[in-house]
Amino acid sequence: MALINENFLKLPGSYLFSDISKKVHSFKLTHPKADVISLGIGDVTRPLVQAVREAMHKAVDEMGDAKTFRGYGPEQGYPFLIEAIIKNDYVPRGISLDISEVFVNDGAKSDTGNIGDILCADNCIGVTDPIYPVYIDSNVMGGRAGSLEKDKWNNVVYIPCTEANGFVPEIPPRRMDMLYLCYPNNPTGASITKEALKMWVDYALANDILILYDAAYEAYIQDASVPHSIYEIKGAKKVAIEFRSFSKTAGFTGVRCGYTIVPKELKGYTLNGQPVPLNQLWNRRQTTKFNGTSYITQRGAEAIYSPEGAAQVKEVIRYYMDNAKLMTEGLRSAGLKVYGGENAPYLWVKTPDGTTSWKFFEQMLYGANVVGTPGVGFGPSGEGYIRLTSFGTRENCAEAMERIHKWLK
Ligand SMILES: *Cc1c(COP(=O)(O)O)cnc(C)c1O
Repeated sequence: MALINENFLKLPGSYLFSDISKKVHSFKLTHPKADVISLGIGDVTRPLVQAVREAMHKAVDEMGDAKTFRGYGPEQGYPFLIEAIIKNDYVPRGISLDISEVFVNDGAKSDTGNIGDILCADNCIGVTDPIYPVYIDSNVMGGRAGSLEKDKWNNVVYIPCTEANGFVPEIPPRRMDMLYLCYPNNPTGASITKEALKMWVDYALANDILILYDAAYEAYIQDASVPHSIYEIKGAKKVAIEFRSFSKTAGFTGVRCGYTIVPKELKGYTLNGQPVPLNQLWNRRQTTKFNGTSYITQRGAEAIYSPEGAAQVKEVIRYYMDNAKLMTEGLRSAGLKVYGGENAPYLWVKTPDGTTSWKFFEQMLYGANVVGTPGVGFGPSGEGYIRLTSFGTRENCAEAMERIHKWLK
């Protein structure tokens, strides 16, 4: 008899996006003429840039020729891509990495979810709240979250990020073994200063905490003083794994490519206190369960580091960040309080007069025909906020702002 992993039964269904689409659907049924604009979308919309397309076409042709055909590649990724990553994303920030510390993957979601494979089920995890749901759900599956009591898992340390603390997490009273940090943040759009990040690295060094640092939005950072990598902080290689993705950087959400940095000096511990390099364990895990990202995809990713590719990708990010600026100004002139949007493609909008996230979601849908994502869907501290993204077209963003303005004035 095959017994199941009963942790899966503890997971409530992920109703957030299906609840949203149900509500939008029923609105459309009763208002067939309404033209609904979605600013709830968490996916990019601009197409792949030319440099990426050309590199991928060329790679397809290589694969179609017996002389240049490639079968299985290295599970960790091709050296050409790993070298480009180190040279462009780390060396300019004063970070040196060995080729064996970079693991190319099929996107950051896989690795942020899979990293638990090499970690004990008894570890206590900490998360900032609100957060990207993958961190908690993957730990529920791994048996690390405990049980759900009301809206919180009892083995998870929730570190609130709210208006009161400027959306910057403070060190919690309860201890933890693993901590997820995501900066720039989805959903709040907040970024972290070097000083605040240093405080977390120092805390992790002093308390043997493993930091899982998700930097999927680093390409959106506009402010030169905001760190792009946790390894910009001294000592971070001893405590942190960093996840990055080409999804939001280069429109790869459908292409699938990212990478994970597991420094060689980073150690985990056996129950009797023996240190073990996590790089070794992750390499073993990847070579067993993962057979690499496609050659074509990796050539496409490499192309964003060419001068043309870099300029083209920068332009796409400019487009989304100009949307964010236009939206921030529009929402503020409509009298709303807006956070984020400066170093991230997300706007975290406070609902007026203590309205709940879901109530405001419905009011905006019916009043302005604009869809957002209720903040409470990202965790209890998200109540009273709605997330809007700047991933739409310029026209839709502008039109949505006009409607919201008209609706609230
Ligand atoms: C979109 C996103 C990712 C990237 O996921 P991929 O699997 O690389 O597409 C990672 N972390 C966060 C917080 C995200 O929002």
